[in-house]
Amino acid sequence: MTMKSVNPATGETIAEFPTLTPAELETRLARAAAAAPRWRRTPVMERAAVIRRVGELLDQDKERIGRMMTLEMGKPLKAAIEEAAKCATACRYYAEHGPAIVADHPVDDADHRSFIAYDPLGVVLAVMPWNFPFWQAIRFIAPAIVAGNVGLLKHASNVPQCALEIEDLLRRAGAPAGVFQTLLVGSDAVAGILADRRVAAATLTGSEGAGSSIGAAAGKHLKPTVLELGGSDAFVVMPSADLDRAIETAVKARVINNGQSCIAAKRFIVHRDVAERFTSGFVAGMQALKMGDPMSPDTQLGPLASAKLAGELEKQVSDSVAMGARLLCGGRRREPDSAWFPATVLTDIPTGAPAYKDEMFGPVGCVFVANDLDDAVRIANDTRFGLGASAWSTDAAEQERLAREIDAGTVFINDMVVSDPRFPFGGIKASGYGRELSDLGMREFTNIKTVRIRTGASGASHSGNTE
Ligand code: NAP
Repeated sequence: MTMKSVNPATGETIAEFPTLTPAELETRLARAAAAAPRWRRTPVMERAAVIRRVGELLDQDKERIGRMMTLEMGKPLKAAIEEAAKCATACRYYAEHGPAIVADHPVDDADHRSFIAYDPLGVVLAVMPWNFPFWQAIRFIAPAIVAGNVGLLKHASNVPQCALEIEDLLRRAGAPAGVFQTLLVGSDAVAGILADRRVAAATLTGSEGAGSSIGAAAGKHLKPTVLELGGSDAFVVMPSADLDRAIETAVKARVINNGQSCIAAKRFIVHRDVAERFTSGFVAGMQALKMGDPMSPDTQLGPLASAKLAGELEKQVSDSVAMGARLLCGGRRREPDSAWFPATVLTDIPTGAPAYKDEMFGPVGCVFVANDLDDAVRIANDTRFGLGASAWSTDAAEQERLAREIDAGTVFINDMVVSDPRFPFGGIKASGYGRELSDLGMREFTNIKTVRIRTGASGASHSGNTE
């Protein structure tokens, strides 16, 4: 079998790569298992130095790496270069702070020397999506490798060049053999890898379907997982908001990464007093976007990652319209069967429509009108997802209520949601569980071990009959 790298802007196949044979996969698993005990004993500062070097290489190579991402999945080149630079920032963050995050935490008393240790788990499988082909992988790799784990990356099948480049980056940065490997395998190989006793844990960033398969397969073998899944995030606008800034940010937050971001704002919930002004400004902003060659520096909207994905999005829009939603702009592919989908706005969306209940993974904004704050919070939470919401108000009491009452892993007030290595990132409900980034994300793939060493001379030994 082969994996194809296809330029979605043109439909042209750029390269093909053979997938691993069962024997090749076995060699890689054995190599990872052999590397794990050695890497765990490597001093944490040496592990951090490898990740620091990965960051330096990403900074040096960001233009070439950015071009590779744009060619394979169509994001505008400027955004791709920024993605590579952001990966370098995360590497610097974990090189600098990682050793302290996994350092022993002493809890001493008179009779004991006690501490909490953060031991690595061993071999961790990362199943990653194509939408941020470097960022999604690096935000797992940097903390996991500094923590002393060994990584295996099963990347999305449409970004094999990026997948191999990430393996090469780690090699060039000095990671010893087996510490990080890319596995060019299809999704059908994942359950078998998870079942392998040499694999300790897994992390997935991807769709709900992949999440439930991987969660089930890992659960069967009692292996921990972090699942970062889809989102249908709210962008709430109250009358006190700076409306011009809210509209400008709404457009940006919806079309970031050609609309294919888990934390892109997807449902715009607008107080009725400002609904008309917001909607007309939002539609104008979406229509003004420059769609074109993603390699061109002034392009704001490139193609979706594949013609198949564009076709699925087109169907979600047309099904929603058939159920009564009103189309305010866009809605159809530029050419049938292509990956080019224009900026689209829907409103008056009935509750059962795909645009109401499902994730729209492309540049489609859904506008809902709320009667008051309670209604806005109700609509915001009327979803099976809960990843990252944005809310706009200059009223302190409203800000407090929006921050506390919207059910999501992240709430930003008067700004668009972005990930940042310093803050935990993840979702609730069907958006997944566990956290990435920050100290909390780094500790997800550690054994948080209690160690108590009795040092006091006196005292009877513990009866041991309590938990
Ligand atoms: P996807 O189809 O779920 O694929 C993600 C990864 O999972 C790919 O490597 C894919 O492999 C693999 N996979 C798919 N089905 C699988 C299964 N049944 N068993 C094992 N592995 C499986 O998702 P996508 O289309 O690439 O990415 C878009 C989704 O990711 C959206 O829902 C988006 O919201 C979500 N996402 C979430 C976050 C977050 O942090 N929460 C960030 C980015 C994206 P193949 O490519 O070989 O099929």
